Amino acid sequence: MFIIFGWGRQTLKSFGPVLKYHCDHCNNDKHWDLYCKRTWFTLFFIPVIPYSTEYLLLCPVCKYGVKLEKERFEEYKAIAQCNTALLNKVITQEEHAARMGQLLGADSSKGAVDQEMEGKTETQKNYLRQLKEIEEERAAKAALSAGNQDSTYTETASDEAGGN
Ligand SMILES: [Zn+2]
Repeated sequence: MFIIFGWGRQTLKSFGPVLKYHCDHCNNDKHWDLYCKRTWFTLFFIPVIPYSTEYLLLCPVCKYGVKLEKERFEEYKAIAQCNTALLNKVITQEEHAARMGQLLGADSSKGAVDQEMEGKTETQKNYLRQLKEIEEERAAKAALSAGNQDSTYTETASDEAGGN
């Protein structure tokens, strides 16, 4: 009987979008995606043991990106999960904002969002900028929907308010 084994099989797992960055390669401002790239020892073509792990943050347009330290990856992973939850409508925008606030502001004293950009990390600054964009977007939408308030508008929310 032959034992077939190999090295070098690579898998790329996506964790979702993190924060918006400017890409110097393709000149787009997009939410960069978080990835974990593993290289495996395979047995009978089945990945068994990962012997190399890289954490990557990549531009979704051109796949240019940076390698991350594991600590930074864990930090971004929480953000990516939070964003993914919002995209899948598992959480509302308010919940998202609250969670992101916690994730990004855990070490700094809370409050006073648009004061003192100084002393914040790059991640926090980025988030604060985006929070503003979201707020503005929401304000614009609110202004729009204020016009037609006879809502036959139903959204497929994951948790419904009940049977009434
Ligand atoms: Zn790019």
